[in-house]
Amino acid sequence: MFDSLTGNERVKKLLRRMQDARRVPGAMLFAGEEGVGKKLFALEIARALNCRSPQGTEGCGHCPSCVRIGTFNYPQSIESEDWKEIVWTDHPDVGLVAAPKRVLLVDQMRKLEREANFRPYEGKARVFLIDDADKLNDASANALLKVLEEPPHTSHIVLLTSRPAMLLPTIRSRCQMIRFSPLSANEIESHLVTNKIAGARESRIRARVARGSLGRALAQDFQEFTEQREAMLRVLEALALSDNRIGLLRSAEELNEARYKDEYESRLDVLETLIRDAWILSLRSPAETVVNEDLLPQLEKISKHLDSTRPAGWIAQIEEMREQLIVNINRKAATDALFLTMAAASPPLQKRRFLPR
Ligand SMILES: [Zn+2]
Repeated sequence: MFDSLTGNERVKKLLRRMQDARRVPGAMLFAGEEGVGKKLFALEIARALNCRSPQGTEGCGHCPSCVRIGTFNYPQSIESEDWKEIVWTDHPDVGLVAAPKRVLLVDQMRKLEREANFRPYEGKARVFLIDDADKLNDASANALLKVLEEPPHTSHIVLLTSRPAMLLPTIRSRCQMIRFSPLSANEIESHLVTNKIAGARESRIRARVARGSLGRALAQDFQEFTEQREAMLRVLEALALSDNRIGLLRSAEELNEARYKDEYESRLDVLETLIRDAWILSLRSPAETVVNEDLLPQLEKISKHLDSTRPAGWIAQIEEMREQLIVNINRKAATDALFLTMAAASPPLQKRRFLPR
């Protein structure tokens, strides 16, 4: 049942209408950020089409068919050759194709086409998901075109992507595009509380920093996050309150410690949300729009020492360094330089695209 899924009520309404009219398209493109439920919605369509005791036109969620559709038999390791095959669920008519490395392969699309041309083994329809469809290259996209054009009426192909613009127009034009929205903080919070994933206080914080992605909120290691946030708050305080350069260089050093190697990017993300929050407060915008609202007292103190051009400059400088990191400059030296530049006298207001969202 779509009711068991969180958020995207508009998409639920649309898909229900298609199911009620028995007009579920053969080729669909689900576009939306990571972690908003695209795959779960696609599986719900597969359930609706194959359920043994449907509720109206929706899957019951409990019959053997519905239950088996929820379990993918993913290969044991990332290196496994089995990623080049169709990854089936426990239901023989529902499967997924994912890129083994960076691209979806021509051969995978041929296998998908062959399978899509078979009649359902057990249920009434075959449903195939293509995960990260933006990883189709020209060759694999072309191999997919034919089956997208005229899928057999018992087969449905759902492409999932967070970057629809990366797909070839020929692919996009053959699919019915369905856009997923980020979830509201309230939707994420109530999901975490209702499913007893975290207590009330933790759920509220996790929901607000998840930026609309339930998947991100669920995957978050809260302990790690709070440690990161404390460290980044110290950076912001050193920048805004004390102009403490020794402290900043120490923070830069900590950020580059080997044990935090994999956290570097996420620590910068956290620092940016803190800067945005302080910025919002310095503009006297309503405190409800602050992400890290449990740190309001500290953030308010910081915001009193800021004119609004400094946070704008800081965010521009962080973004600029991220771009440089892609071309692989020395990260340690870059972090030192970044924090010292940020500490320097008020930089000019940077491009408008850095305004808080
Ligand atoms: Zn069922």
